[in-house]
Amino acid sequence: MSRLIVVSNRVAVPSRKGGATAGGLAVALNDVLAQRGGLWFGWSGRIGQRQKKASLVTQGNVTYAVCDLSQEDHQEYYNGFANRTLWPLLHYRLDLTEFARKDLAGYRSVNSYFADLLVEHIGPDDLIWIHDYHLIPLAEALRERGVTNRIGYFQHIPWPSLDIFLALPNHAEIGRALTACDLVGFQTRKDADNFGSYLVEEAGAFASGRRLFAVGGRALRIGVYPVGIDRLGFARTAARAARSRFIQEVGESLGGRTMMIGVDRLDYSKGLTQRLDAFERMLQMAPDWRTHVTFLQITPKSRADIPEYAAMQRALGEAAGRINGQYGEVSWTPIRYINRSYNRSELAGLYRLAHVGVVTPLRDGMNLVAKEYVASQDPDDPGVLVLSRFAGAASVLDGALLVNPYDIDGTAAAYVRALMMPLEERKARWRRMWQGLATTDIGGWADRFLSDLEEVDRDLPNRGFPLGNGHGSVII
Ligand code: UDP
Repeated sequence: MSRLIVVSNRVAVPSRKGGATAGGLAVALNDVLAQRGGLWFGWSGRIGQRQKKASLVTQGNVTYAVCDLSQEDHQEYYNGFANRTLWPLLHYRLDLTEFARKDLAGYRSVNSYFADLLVEHIGPDDLIWIHDYHLIPLAEALRERGVTNRIGYFQHIPWPSLDIFLALPNHAEIGRALTACDLVGFQTRKDADNFGSYLVEEAGAFASGRRLFAVGGRALRIGVYPVGIDRLGFARTAARAARSRFIQEVGESLGGRTMMIGVDRLDYSKGLTQRLDAFERMLQMAPDWRTHVTFLQITPKSRADIPEYAAMQRALGEAAGRINGQYGEVSWTPIRYINRSYNRSELAGLYRLAHVGVVTPLRDGMNLVAKEYVASQDPDDPGVLVLSRFAGAASVLDGALLVNPYDIDGTAAAYVRALMMPLEERKARWRRMWQGLATTDIGGWADRFLSDLEEVDRDLPNRGFPLGNGHGSVII
């Protein structure tokens, strides 16, 4: 088996303290590397001087190769182009998308810096797997340095429809950079179709099938690989955690009330204000539930340097305070709103304790919390998942109550339905979702991607297919 090199913006080097990792990508890659071993390359999370060589740490079968970023890099590449341009745009939020040429230049420059350091560690048979929107130009930068290895790229977040993507100035540079890969993977069929349309209509690709293209003289395959979780591991952890002192204390603090739970990084894509508005609407529509239900919203802060995030943080704190002020009683706080992160075992126990899991992003690549909530349930008395139809997870979890998160009345009605759902229906829905999780187990996700990467037919453009001129003219 070839050695695996994983590249992502941030590398989660395990710390002795074993701190909580709040982020779907870090959680997924940790699991994959723990199973297969290999090299994990990326940013250390520290800001300082750029390095001449990556710093290496080996633990078990994984070597972590990390490097620092300069202050300017962090501002332009991370806060700037990645998180103020690409993140909102790829989540369909043109209203929040900011574009600055300086940031794009910083984004290119950090990708070149990564390529310079990484190239030193690449052996002839290594498989290179690049992750997510911070590193779209990296494959091209590696090719420019003579790397001929198979390179795959996985997009953890959505890829929007053509009209949205075309609003990105320099979209041609960004979209075509991915054609230096052999395989590009997406979370859902819709994301893959959107990228396929871009390739054909804007990047001059020739489609030799729905998912196979010739472009710029190279073969490019695209595919759908919904990222999964270790469902059995999660189920075991949840069952164990339910007996822990922490969960017993939380249970006692509820005083017999029903608990609903939301767990999300503080991010405008997660639909948090709409979610709380819907809870307030529920308290108006179904006053019998007042004093009988507690909504626990766990929201670790993220990207606090970016103004849109700071504004959100204020807005959400205000919304929780307003609802608690208006509906709360001395012995009942409707919303427990918490800005810190919890580790996997604590979360698993909390998910199991909650009768309703609320996952209502306005747009989300997949959303692992939805899957973790399902995996953590007691099969004999499972909770109900209320899930946004705009989360990638909705394509797998068809036993959830699907909602449109913009529809506050509809979401409030779904909360009530979830709270009142009879046991037999809960069980039937949960069983469907548990089966759904089996089809996208974490190991299977990586295995499928990597075996497809090894099998891409690189000779395609030499076997009579048009080369795909890669210059942006429409060929078919
Ligand atoms: N998470 C965590 N501690 C927390 C909050 C979240 O470990 O306090 C984890 C959560 O269990 C999940 C991940 O962070 O695995 C979030 O992934 P998701 O796909 O739901 O969203 P993302 O943050 O990647 O947009």
